[in-house]
Amino acid sequence: MTTVPKFRRIMLKVSGEALMGAQAYGIDQETVDRIARDIKGAYDLGIEICLVIGGGNIFRGLSKAAHGMERATADYMGMLATVMNALALQSGLEKFGLQTRVVSAIPMTSVCEPYIRRRAIRHMEKGRVVIFAAGTGNPFFTTDTAATLRAIEMGCDVMLKGTQVDGVYSADPKRDPDATRYDELTYQEVLARDLRVMDASAIALARDNRIPILVYSLSEPVVSVLTGEAKSTIIREGE
Ligand code: UDP
Repeated sequence: MTTVPKFRRIMLKVSGEALMGAQAYGIDQETVDRIARDIKGAYDLGIEICLVIGGGNIFRGLSKAAHGMERATADYMGMLATVMNALALQSGLEKFGLQTRVVSAIPMTSVCEPYIRRRAIRHMEKGRVVIFAAGTGNPFFTTDTAATLRAIEMGCDVMLKGTQVDGVYSADPKRDPDATRYDELTYQEVLARDLRVMDASAIALARDNRIPILVYSLSEPVVSVLTGEAKSTIIREGE
């Protein structure tokens, strides 16, 4: 029997790269559908869900800036990429019968709703899955920070951050055979040990607002992570 998780409302951070599947770039439809089915599984447990989607599968500001484009301009392009991903995921979720709203930090009212905090909360109360697009709306940030910010604004109980491995390790487990996985970490430990699970501004924001972060493997269904059947690392305040 599946244990019912204790979470009422969760934030899921989906990186842009998670949408690529085996492709080197862009959006793989089968992968989008798999992620959507996975989210539906969590929704069916009675949890309110919101998502922040990245844009790295299409455009990453920092790498373009390194090749001579003005950083702020490149970052705005990166934020626009997240809107495309959000629409793809919305379409995927609708296939599974979920009601969704894409809300953008950069208003583009012909395409999706602008972000209004109370309205987004209301959507979730009505059972809609809310997808936050365009990051924070500001250059020089990442979608990890956007996910943390929105998770706090929405009053989420936890933020889930999917990665290539099943939690946070002492070193890169793909390169270092001695790397060990942590079950639990404090925000301070992540920052002090420079464990690169999310950027430091996202971790600091989570710490200052005491939102726990569950780091898990994207190959595991979200439901198994929430019920504790799949391994993960929880980052939270120390006892
Ligand atoms: N971005 C930004 N401000 C934000 C969020 C994102 O400028 O608040 C830009 C930034 O250029 C970033 C790109 O959008 O490189 C895509 O986001 P991110 O790299 O976080 O996506 P992910 O790694 O999750 O796919």
